[in-house]
Amino acid sequence: MKLAIRALLLLSVGSTSIFSGAQARPFPGPDVQQIYQRLLPQIEKIPAFDHHAHPGFADDPDVDAMAAPPNASEALRTRDDNPELAAAAKAMFGYPYSDLSPEHTKWLIDKKAEVKKKNPGTAYFDMVLDKVNIESSVANRAMMPDYLNPKRFPWVFFADSFLWPFNNERETARNGDQGVFIPLQEKMLHRWMQQENVSKLPATFADYLKFISQVLEDNKNNKGGIAMKFEVAYFRPTTFSDPSRTQVEDLYQRYVSGGIPAEREYRTFQDFIFRYLVQEGGRLHLPVHIHSAVGVGDYFNLSQSNIMNLESVLRDPRYTSTTFVMIHGGYPLEREAIWLAAMKNVYLDSSYGEMAQYPSAFKETLKQWLETFPDKITFGTDCFPYNQVLGTEESYWLGAESSRIALAAALAEMISEGEIGEARALELAHAYLHDNAVKLYEGRVQ
Ligand SMILES: [Zn+2]
Repeated sequence: MKLAIRALLLLSVGSTSIFSGAQARPFPGPDVQQIYQRLLPQIEKIPAFDHHAHPGFADDPDVDAMAAPPNASEALRTRDDNPELAAAAKAMFGYPYSDLSPEHTKWLIDKKAEVKKKNPGTAYFDMVLDKVNIESSVANRAMMPDYLNPKRFPWVFFADSFLWPFNNERETARNGDQGVFIPLQEKMLHRWMQQENVSKLPATFADYLKFISQVLEDNKNNKGGIAMKFEVAYFRPTTFSDPSRTQVEDLYQRYVSGGIPAEREYRTFQDFIFRYLVQEGGRLHLPVHIHSAVGVGDYFNLSQSNIMNLESVLRDPRYTSTTFVMIHGGYPLEREAIWLAAMKNVYLDSSYGEMAQYPSAFKETLKQWLETFPDKITFGTDCFPYNQVLGTEESYWLGAESSRIALAAALAEMISEGEIGEARALELAHAYLHDNAVKLYEGRVQ
């Protein structure tokens, strides 16, 4: 029996089509470690496309359109005392210490300044990408800085601020998190107005919609934007009603020049604008990225903002020409979330899952996704310049390393359990790390 299986395995070597092995087994065999050791170096060599990241320096306020509320709780691995960060600093900068004590981290801060000086302009972050073998990385930022090379850092801009044009006093006062988030949305809307030379909000609703479309088109055609991103789950529930245009037109007329809309009225208005943006994403070939996981801030309401609330939008036949990327893959509801990728226009990005979880758990996430819709999942690090010590550089490294390790482990188990062969496993690795995401942008990214 064993020999027969081995013969079938040998037959499958070199085949890139469906593995013609025996029936799948429920446990990996004793070869699983060996397969893992064989796969990992091959997977490390695959140049990746990072589908969700916030690259930049720690003192750059444009790395995100919002900010973390002060004293927000952090999951264990994402705290800045994670000892793995010393390994990250070692890999990136030759950090000679195994802890992150203040005396030691001074070495790191000085070293980064020195490397930055030797690599002026866009060279510094190009070098960071080279070190982690990422060919290109999305820059999901408020605006783009001149120190990121646009060829390797395609821009994903934020679209939420169009939902907040009225007096936001009541929304801002709801809790400490909203007190931080909502004023930043107002600021972002103001920046879009400046960009388009609009001094005040248009008087009519039709012109407001025109203004929104103008920003989208400008961002795409003149500023290198490849997609729009929503982090709406931070600000309000992600269930969207389907109001009529007349209803919303009336709300706009009533509140555009003052007055505080009732919560229900504001939501109704936002529901329409959200759907308008989704439709525009289809018309303009701008994929729509949506934050779909837990989020920073202690008031983040997971039951009101979980990914499954979006199911009625994602499965709406009116939006089949819009490509959706569910950023963070619905974590911690990623097991349910993968079934949303049954829709041909819906993709799941795994970023943050690889940081919130250690590789042993993240491996299970990837394995279940690879076993369900492997052609619909994409890699991302969600890197962010947390502070001068834990910078974009270290978080790129930790995100990329964790993802590659978990990927090699998931595929090794699948091979050892007789689900797929090694050639197919490497195809799946390329698809997840690079090809699936790149295909979405119709030649605009590499
Ligand atoms: Zn992010």
